[in-house]
Amino acid sequence: MSREQLAVQRARKSFHTGKTKPLEHRIHQLRSLLRFVHERQKEIADAVKKDLGKSEYATELFETIGLEGEINLALENLAEWAAPRPVEKNLLTILDEVYIQPEPLGVVLIIGAWNYPWAVTLQPLIGAIAAGNAAVIKPSEISSHSAKLMEELLPQYLDKDLYPVVTGGVSETQELLKQRFDHIFYTGNSTVGKLVMEAAARHLTPVTLELGGKSPCYIDKDCDITVACRRITWGKFVNVGQTCIAPDYILCEASIQSRVVEEIKKCIKEFYTDNPKTFEDYGRMVNQRHLKRVVALMEGSTIAVGGEVDESQCYIAPTVLKDVTGESKLMQEEIFGPLLPIITVSGVDEAIEFINDREKPLVIYVFADNNKLIKRVIAETSSGALLANDCLVHFTVSALPFGGVGNSGMGCYHGRHSFDRLSHLRSCLIKQLKMEGVNSMRYPPHTAKKMSWARFFLLKQFNVSRMRHLALLAMLAGLAAFVVQRFLR
Ligand code: NAD
Repeated sequence: MSREQLAVQRARKSFHTGKTKPLEHRIHQLRSLLRFVHERQKEIADAVKKDLGKSEYATELFETIGLEGEINLALENLAEWAAPRPVEKNLLTILDEVYIQPEPLGVVLIIGAWNYPWAVTLQPLIGAIAAGNAAVIKPSEISSHSAKLMEELLPQYLDKDLYPVVTGGVSETQELLKQRFDHIFYTGNSTVGKLVMEAAARHLTPVTLELGGKSPCYIDKDCDITVACRRITWGKFVNVGQTCIAPDYILCEASIQSRVVEEIKKCIKEFYTDNPKTFEDYGRMVNQRHLKRVVALMEGSTIAVGGEVDESQCYIAPTVLKDVTGESKLMQEEIFGPLLPIITVSGVDEAIEFINDREKPLVIYVFADNNKLIKRVIAETSSGALLANDCLVHFTVSALPFGGVGNSGMGCYHGRHSFDRLSHLRSCLIKQLKMEGVNSMRYPPHTAKKMSWARFFLLKQFNVSRMRHLALLAMLAGLAAFVVQRFLR
């Protein structure tokens, strides 16, 4: 039996003992995970530094603070999330107990990506634990220091059998994908996403696919371009552009293109100094393969800012490219690096058309003072999320479902959405073995057709809320009649 098979088997066996069902068990595991994040902050930051050249501060800001927030939220709300959820009844079931009971799915496979190796791997784990599942955790082999540390330390804090960490590369992931799971939660690119879904289909396993894509950023010419460019520069070049929700390219009118270039240039200097290569808070491309891929994307386009590359250090400077066309290399795939192309359009109409001609993105960014314009973009496009006048921050709102649509993914998580995503929302209806007389009332009367009055009501869709409205209307009509009689006669 392979290592992967063994891990899944152990997790399933442990799940079947029923120990994840009591909330106390889940709370205990979540608290241990919180302790892990607190106590191992330094080791986590060191591993991320080795993987991606990120500073300790950036790891805290973009990985561990968010994890702590999500764990605390789950701890505070778990009892409510896991409780039976009464639902509105219809006339047929008015005396019955009707509710939704969230229940664990079983064993979840979590496949993480490398760009935020802790956040994208442990965040789904929080949901899996809260929902009472076992989970096999597969960190990305590309962020190898983080993967190794996770494998070494997590079992010191969490139940080893229920939450095993399996490290390795593509062949190990493929071996895992052959096993039967109750949910697969994958974060990574769309090409592998399709393979994950194919493997899941063999066992009819549901999937959540947190993918990427090209997130456009439209700048309206009448907005505060200085502020817009500050926020775009931050959102694009953080983690050297290796962020799934980074603005991938800018759409703006030709009349503001040079102003946008100048403003972004100023911000790059302000945020990363004259020489980002030596600046602590500017990281590196994760490896040579990704460096070469991103460098090749620049071919044939005009560099307006940056463009310097040092292969030996996996360094690419923050770079802006102007007058880029929809046919250029830069526009054929997600950039996932520090290149920011600008494509000029005649206005918001053409921007919307440009966006709608392509795959549905993970996010659409709009910078505009005009609320009507923002609402128009919301109404006439589709994407995982839409964020106006800032970058990335929607990720921090746990109440917002985070995920893509179409090519940018399926399913969503964060906060309660993670809990619901990794639970089965079971319909429960408890009737008493009484009042059988109701079922023997026939409609139409005196026929042999076996349709009870109650069922007739149901089929006619006399639901309780409609009855309530009718009752309210009747009360209001009565009140009106009383007022007319009493005071207006
Ligand atoms: P990656 O190469 O680390 O792959 C992710 C996982 O897939 C790894 O664990 C790896 O073992 C496995 N894998 C790779 N090739 C495989 C194959 N052929 N068969 C089976 N498993 C395989 O990560 P990546 O895909 O380079 O990550 C970057 C992508 O992830 C970008 O597109 C980015 O936008 C996206 N992303 C999305 C989110 C999100 O939340 N939506 C977050 C982070 C990254």
